[in-house]
Amino acid sequence: MPAASLSPEILAKYEPVIGLEVHVQLLTATKAFCGCVNHFGSEPNTNVCPVCLGLPGSLPVLNAQAVDFATRASLAINCKINERSIFARKNYFYPDLPKGYQISQFDKPIAEHGWIEVPTAEGKTKRIGIMRLHMEEDAGKSIHDGFSDSATRTYIDLNRCGTPLAEIVSEPDIRTPDEAYEYLTRLKEILLYTGVSDCNMEEGSLRCDANVSVRLKGASKFGTKAEVKNVNSFRFVRAALEYEIERQIEVIESGERVVQESRLWNAAEGRTYSMRSKEQAHDYRYFPEPDLPPLIVTAEMLALAKSELPELPEARRARMIAEYELTPQDAATLTATREFADRFEAAAKGAKSARRVANLLLSEVGGRLKALGLEQEQSPISMDGIVLAADLLEVGTISSRQLKQLFDICFEKSEDFPSVYEREKPQQITDSSALEVMIDEVIAANPKQVEQYRAGKKTMAAFFVGQVMRASKGQANPALLNELVTKKLDSQQI
Ligand code: ADP
Ligand code: ZN
Ligand code: MG
Repeated sequence: MPAASLSPEILAKYEPVIGLEVHVQLLTATKAFCGCVNHFGSEPNTNVCPVCLGLPGSLPVLNAQAVDFATRASLAINCKINERSIFARKNYFYPDLPKGYQISQFDKPIAEHGWIEVPTAEGKTKRIGIMRLHMEEDAGKSIHDGFSDSATRTYIDLNRCGTPLAEIVSEPDIRTPDEAYEYLTRLKEILLYTGVSDCNMEEGSLRCDANVSVRLKGASKFGTKAEVKNVNSFRFVRAALEYEIERQIEVIESGERVVQESRLWNAAEGRTYSMRSKEQAHDYRYFPEPDLPPLIVTAEMLALAKSELPELPEARRARMIAEYELTPQDAATLTATREFADRFEAAAKGAKSARRVANLLLSEVGGRLKALGLEQEQSPISMDGIVLAADLLEVGTISSRQLKQLFDICFEKSEDFPSVYEREKPQQITDSSALEVMIDEVIAANPKQVEQYRAGKKTMAAFFVGQVMRASKGQANPALLNELVTKKLDSQQI
């Protein structure tokens, strides 16, 4: 158990080495090798058939959509697709695995040698290698609680048997728990963009095993690793790694050796426990699956997967930063999900100023949502409402102060912008003579600023516009006001 006794100096002597194995369930209509629907949340043991139950005499038939999704995901993480790959049986006994083996891929996976990029603490990017992506099928589920007799019984739900999975194995390139967190975040984002998985961790469609070892800085060989199994959130992966790194350093510092083993993360206690050591490790007795031919990814299949590949998050952010003059932070918010980015861009296309739509969405709407602790989907103001507001601002039909008031009403009444605008139709002073009176007053009251303007500081015009706007309680027509202020300041007769 890591003690607080490990000094920063001791910790600093070591370098962690981390590699992550991520399982994602593929969002196919049916299972990997049979026609059963692939659906989470059905009545237990209803989506099953002789094939996924492994009844004698049944034969698997590979789902073409699963291959397409695995290929698409492989391309998105820059892997090389193997034209020919092999399915293998991974044999072990477990109550939720009626066949006694999982169909997986072993020495010849569908894809290898990929990478993704993650941002580093220094503001740079780092490339994390991906060893392989292979296809396999999921096992069923043991249900240990929720029944009146759960204290003495475990129930089995076999609906998950045969669900198609892609397992993505990283190279041991990750060096800190934060980097592991970034890797998972980026990987999940890429997979969500490609549409091959919903990556829902609560429902188990994305699961992560974390491998970690430590070595003295400068050492060329890796240390002995421990594998922390099935951690169910990215934050827990980070916490489990932090714990595990300290534990291993402490083991080494006390003169002992780290043993290769699988460990379990206990979130309630914030620590890992030994699950099984190498001696008890499974020998899966892999052998080629005799009931399935080699998987051939043809040129047509590859072309299809390529054509289905969307613009990926990193590229999309770079393009949007340039196109809408966004900060990286704003671009990250706008591209948080592909759906959100799509909705923004579709709406922005029809607006007079896409930049202004982005601004309203992020600052005016985003700020109000954040203050209320709401998600983007809970905004009362639709994307179309934001576009209308942006256009009204752009042509000067409403002032930004009026817009703020209208947005306040939208949030108070949970009502979209167009109907609030129609009803409230904010007063605007579009009468030149009325505005001129106000401008004259402001000019008379601020002789020093007038002097500065006349001396060539043209930006002072904004000061006068602001003063008159305030005097008009935000009701002056901004375009007209701008024009009149400049005219007055430039005219001779004052
Ligand atoms: P195994 O043979 O134990 O399954 P693999 O070579 O298949 O190990 O790697 C499994 C995962 O463990 C990969 O993500 C890899 O990057 C990572 N890994 C391998 N060796 C180490 C190590 N010494 N320290 C940390 N992670 C490692
Ligand atoms: Zn089935
Ligand atoms: Mg391995």
